[in-house]
Amino acid sequence: MKRITTFLLFLLLWTLSGAQTPKYIFYFIGDGMGINQVQLTNAYNAAAGLPALNFSAFPVQTFVATQSASGLVTDSAAAGTALSTGTKTTNYYMGADPDGAPLRNLSERARQHGKGVGIVTSTSVNHATPGAFFAHTTSRRDFKTISTQMLACQVDFLGGAGILREKDDTLGRDYWLNRAKEAGWEVCLGKDTFRTRPGKRMLCLPEKDGKELSYAIDAAGGELRLQDLTRAAIDHLYANYRRKGFFLMVEGGLIDYLCHSNDPGGAVHEINDMAQSVELALQFLAAHPHETLIIVTADHETGGMAYAYDRRTGRPEWLSGQTCSMRALSGRLAALKKESGENTPWIQVKDLLRESLGLWESVQPTAAKEKQLKQLYKESFLDNGDSREADLYTTAERLARYAVSCLGWGCGVKWLDNNHTGSPVGLYVKGAGQAAFAACRDNTDIPNTLVRVAGLQ
Ligand SMILES: [Zn+2]
Repeated sequence: MKRITTFLLFLLLWTLSGAQTPKYIFYFIGDGMGINQVQLTNAYNAAAGLPALNFSAFPVQTFVATQSASGLVTDSAAAGTALSTGTKTTNYYMGADPDGAPLRNLSERARQHGKGVGIVTSTSVNHATPGAFFAHTTSRRDFKTISTQMLACQVDFLGGAGILREKDDTLGRDYWLNRAKEAGWEVCLGKDTFRTRPGKRMLCLPEKDGKELSYAIDAAGGELRLQDLTRAAIDHLYANYRRKGFFLMVEGGLIDYLCHSNDPGGAVHEINDMAQSVELALQFLAAHPHETLIIVTADHETGGMAYAYDRRTGRPEWLSGQTCSMRALSGRLAALKKESGENTPWIQVKDLLRESLGLWESVQPTAAKEKQLKQLYKESFLDNGDSREADLYTTAERLARYAVSCLGWGCGVKWLDNNHTGSPVGLYVKGAGQAAFAACRDNTDIPNTLVRVAGLQ
């Protein structure tokens, strides 16, 4: 009897400590998803009557530093390398140390232990973050090398929005798709074609060539989404690796794009969109509770998002007035300008800003802000000058940028600039082996802990 009690007590402690070895590993990376972005999403969700982000209720939560070997502020390639290999490197290096020597990544470790490997992103499959899980190069812009390494790598499922190519590329997507087929990949274009195939390596992309999926806030019904790719990856990996398990990295890559554009509503919708893929992992965990581990983190913060106190503003629910991204709003303004040019009256532009952002409904721009909006309208529509400004991924009408900043002001959201910052990011962990992650303080600690906990040495 005493022996049984001791055994049961041990079993209870073991279960509570979460010290099981994870067989199925989910690794979510919200690109550019800082702590404030997560908090704003939860504040918006609470105000809009939506559930809190699923990962913000994970039992193990801490912060990790993100600096690279280049300095306090990392880019996605160096951060992806830290998260995939446990080693800091120089910005723009991918899967290589500061001397350029290749580093062993989690995909290769998982593969060497007989596990299936999947890599999924809402950007291109050879972009910085996914690339850090299969490539070894000193330039994230060397798309030819990265794509060649991608087709040779031992990954079972690759899903994303497209294949990035050099600026002067004349080969097109088909060249790479044909090379993929020659290398033994099963190429699936469009979500209706996604299905599990025994023993095959799958390359899953949208039907149409592109660089990234539509932003969640702009996506039309029926479009390929991150969760379609995540579901297809889980199905394929589980069908093929039921015995040994799998490692699946999923990147919410467009949170970063939207934060580069200082687009608060766009970022909130994109983070909620990634959470739908986390939901699929949670469903998997419910079916395999003692063998599944889910890690959610970010590679860095983008934009320096913060909330500033203002007794008249600071209402995150006003973001619900935003019905399209800043990029899409810029497109609508450009279309209007093309249609009626200098004959476009201010009132028509004002209506468009109201429809797209809820300005003059929830958020009342101050007189000074309205004056500036009118000035930008004049420069764009009446003077017909160059009225556009570029950030890293988006060239947009200044009027669209400023109007979105007026909405942000109403919601209490401010931005430092259009680039990455050195802020720490959140780490959220749930499942088998979770307890060990509470000690993580640096982004390199995450893969190093995972290697230990999952026995991937
Ligand atoms: Zn970025």
